[in-house]
Amino acid sequence: MRKTRIMTGIGISAIALLALTACNSGTPGADPSEPGDGGEETTALWEVATDVSLEGSPTFDAMSERGGVVVGVKNDQPGLGYEDATTGERTGFDVDIARWVAASLGFDEDQIEYVTIPSANREQALVNGDIDYYVGTYSITDTRKELIDFAGPYFLTGQGLLVAADNEDINGPDDLEGKIVCSVTGSTPLQRIRDEFNPGDTVEYDTYSQCVEQLLAGSVDAITTDEAILAGYVAQRPDELKIAGEPFSEERYGIGVAKGDTVMVEHINTLLTDGGDVWTALFEEHLAPAGITGTQPEVDATS
Ligand code: GLU
Repeated sequence: MRKTRIMTGIGISAIALLALTACNSGTPGADPSEPGDGGEETTALWEVATDVSLEGSPTFDAMSERGGVVVGVKNDQPGLGYEDATTGERTGFDVDIARWVAASLGFDEDQIEYVTIPSANREQALVNGDIDYYVGTYSITDTRKELIDFAGPYFLTGQGLLVAADNEDINGPDDLEGKIVCSVTGSTPLQRIRDEFNPGDTVEYDTYSQCVEQLLAGSVDAITTDEAILAGYVAQRPDELKIAGEPFSEERYGIGVAKGDTVMVEHINTLLTDGGDVWTALFEEHLAPAGITGTQPEVDATS
């Protein structure tokens, strides 16, 4: 089997140019905040675009008519797509990518409605037009491309295993014989662990945080999904959880859009291609603290 170490080191020089604000709206490299606003040093990462026109994009037409954006996200994946249960605040790399896309289309934070959608329901939400686009650890696959289109990829990771910190038995997917493995319905890692490996049993839930509860309770032996997701859980509970072994797939994260909206796909791809500084700043803010390393992948126009 091909084992791919996808994540590589990255310099942090670009980030030194940028200071993040709480709301992330503004221009990279702009002057610090104007006097009189409390004096915080705030240099944000992007501006909300004005006078946007995206001729031939049904998604953009719907957004414009509505006067807002409806974005599909996750809410239980720290560092990627997370919702604070107390404050309702949404944070993470994926959530900020969603905000950045919205800003590029002329919509600010007040005009974004977030809808939490689990892995199994993503394609249907896009097919139904319930959301305008989806940003949430969403791997680009041929099967999904039969129903929807993807912009990107905007991030690469690989399938891994999460186990209890004191587990010495499981060091890779070949060690799963007789073990109970938890993953999420409709996810690529669940499919792969069943198709290509030989776990004792698999159990599936709607979300990875439900799997984490099962692992902490000792009712499953391992969780399998993308390392970027697993690293977020380890960062929350470093004494209780650890990643076992090396990644054993390549997951290319894309932004899901309605099938046939090539104008929207091209718009987002151009944003990603031209926005290396923003990408790096978001990566450093949200993923690097969990020990994740990586560089921005090149957009693939055939995604
Ligand atoms: N990236 C994988 C997928 O899209 C796993 C993560 C997820 O379920 O969102 O299926």
